[in-house]
Amino acid sequence: MTVTETPTDDAAVSTAETAVAPDHPMVVCDNLVKIYKIAELEVFALQGLDLVVRRGELLGIVGASGSGKSTLMNILGGLDRPSAGRVWVDGMDLLNLTDAALDAYRRSMVGFVWQQGARNLIPYLNALENVELPMTLAGQAGREKRERALELLEAVGLAERRGHRLSELSGGEQQRVAIAVALANNPRLLLADEPTGELDSNTALSIYKTFRDLNTRYGLTILIVSHDATIARHVDRVVAIRDGKLATETVRQKVTSAGEQSQHSEILEELTVLDSAGRLQIPKEYLERTGIKSRVRLEMTEDGGILIRPVNEQQHAPTAEALGAALSEAQRTRRARSTLSRWLARLIRR
Ligand code: ADP
Ligand code: MG
Repeated sequence: MTVTETPTDDAAVSTAETAVAPDHPMVVCDNLVKIYKIAELEVFALQGLDLVVRRGELLGIVGASGSGKSTLMNILGGLDRPSAGRVWVDGMDLLNLTDAALDAYRRSMVGFVWQQGARNLIPYLNALENVELPMTLAGQAGREKRERALELLEAVGLAERRGHRLSELSGGEQQRVAIAVALANNPRLLLADEPTGELDSNTALSIYKTFRDLNTRYGLTILIVSHDATIARHVDRVVAIRDGKLATETVRQKVTSAGEQSQHSEILEELTVLDSAGRLQIPKEYLERTGIKSRVRLEMTEDGGILIRPVNEQQHAPTAEALGAALSEAQRTRRARSTLSRWLARLIRR
């Protein structure tokens, strides 16, 4: 991905005065790399991840355990810094923020919801007091604070539970309070890392619905990490991370069937993502079924596609026939000459 625009606002975390175009993406990750070093061992948690999230988008992020989802969320949440690459949130270059500016970013620009709702909450405060707490810490007081806290509890469907303590709320209700707490300081971006991981499927559904309501009501950009493949039905788009890179993207498409009464329905289509260098990830099960290991043969097809064929790894040297064809082609094109010299070099090395 090429980022031609490099919007920076590293002086401070400004909110109202950050003048960015409405069509400006909320999140841009460009070739993001995160390496964790434990003693001599290096773990590549993100390996050149590219991602653009539209303003007001409700995005699902799926991937196997250890694929780098939380690492990405922590970077976007300002809890961790990448090892290489670039990342912008709402036009702000997170790499160039000072520690103090990153602190301010965490407090005012992003809201975080964890898997355990209770992690965001203070047990001996009631729901309303929990939602008010971040506002109190930010220096807000009085009626405005109370009104906003009540509005948020109402928005997550918990207005009538406002006086309940943590122990008097169900897991799903605790998670709703946690969402309201995350929104207390009016963030632009809401990050939820496996928010339904500990909930049954019905409660999970109601949490997804809450995210959708908030997305519609406030135009909030929301990123939800989930291990639940059915999340595709509840969000605008799902991206799948594999080995620290974006592998596929599932988009919803509206289809209208012709007929006496035209019917509208939705289909989900999973597309493989190509990175800026033209690389793509082939699903493991495809590799296993085709026996593809470290080399393939690419062929242009007549209908304008590209075919990936397995090659026999032991004999990936060209056949006499292919060599003959390349020899005659070599007189005409430079590309054929370079293919030919590569093949010859390979033959000589054997
Ligand atoms: P996910 O959330 O998709 O399960 P993570 O982002 O938590 O994956 O982890 C990605 C990889 O980075 C894993 O191999 C994990 O073990 C490693 N990792 C994550 N956090 C740390 C850390 N603080 N120190 C060392 N390795 C880490
Ligand atoms: Mg995780």
